[in-house]
Amino acid sequence: MAKILVTGGTGYIGSHTVVELQKVGFDVVIVDNLSNSSIDVLNGIEKITGIRPAFENIDCVDYVSMDRMFEKYKGIDAIIHFAASKAVGESVEKPLLYYRNNLVSLINLLQLMPIHKVKNFVFSSSCTVYGQPDVLPVTESAPIKPALSPYGNTKQISEEIIRDTIHANPCYQSTILRYFNPIGAHPSAEIGELPSGVPNNLLPFVTQTARGLRKQLLIFGDDYNTPDGSCVRDYINVVDLAKAHVIAVQRMLNKRAKAHVETFNLGTGRGLSVLEIIKTFEKVNGVSIPYKIVDRREGDIEKVWADPSYANNELGWTATETVEDTLRSAWVWEQKLANRVKAE
Ligand code: UDP
Repeated sequence: MAKILVTGGTGYIGSHTVVELQKVGFDVVIVDNLSNSSIDVLNGIEKITGIRPAFENIDCVDYVSMDRMFEKYKGIDAIIHFAASKAVGESVEKPLLYYRNNLVSLINLLQLMPIHKVKNFVFSSSCTVYGQPDVLPVTESAPIKPALSPYGNTKQISEEIIRDTIHANPCYQSTILRYFNPIGAHPSAEIGELPSGVPNNLLPFVTQTARGLRKQLLIFGDDYNTPDGSCVRDYINVVDLAKAHVIAVQRMLNKRAKAHVETFNLGTGRGLSVLEIIKTFEKVNGVSIPYKIVDRREGDIEKVWADPSYANNELGWTATETVEDTLRSAWVWEQKLANRVKAE
């Protein structure tokens, strides 16, 4: 079976993807520097699939160590590149950290691919490249808007680097996956999101507030031009998202890609507001989330949701989990984390 390198494989989306890859028989090698994840994630993966993936604690910015890693695990067929810094606010404060981590890692991998004869590359991009789209739902052909943060800019520049590199070396191929807002956890509750410090994202803040770890959730603005005034996003189940990576890899390995670089939106096609997420979370989990409306957060997009029809038709992939089940899985995972802390 084909061998897949997953950078950032102990992270949130990475770990769920490793599980789905192993389930269909892929041999997985994880490279992660554990800067924003825990080695314990390997236990969670092993509990679900019965297989402990190979793991190397390497920073993808370190070219020499990455080169050695490719030598050690000869015959890697595809790379799924998740490893990146992802906090928007931090990227504004430390732009060079973001440009260095996210761009040097990518360049290293693209340089090492021909040396080690790896032909296929999947890249984690984001709907942030669309900014506030003029037309909703947003399709892959929507214009790329000026980035609002260094983080967002690294995603735009990375996409360009990939396109230019593959254009110059057409025997390589890449799939760029633009994620909307991944939420939830694996149904086994063996893996899930593990934010370090105060969460920036909505869902971990909601679950931590439900657990009593945070006093209240701050809702950033209720005066947007949306039905209830709060921002609208396309929240997608993380396992659904993970499955799309498996299909993207299989499509490239089986030579079914229609272009050297293909780009897909990974979303549900449905927009939900912050208030709708909170109400639904409260209802399905029987908990209450104290919240307060505060000022808008700088750089927030008012509303964005995907037109996922290109991914639906071309990949034969659709997000199938309901938001209710997804919010249940997030709460089960948070409670498990709470019990873990108690046991320690
Ligand atoms: N949000 C919020 N309170 C929080 C975190 C997020 O009201 O503590 C809102 C945020 O303004 C946005 C939505 O939740 O409208 C999703 O934010 P997140 O950071 O999860 O994702 P992104 O901004 O990247 O879409």
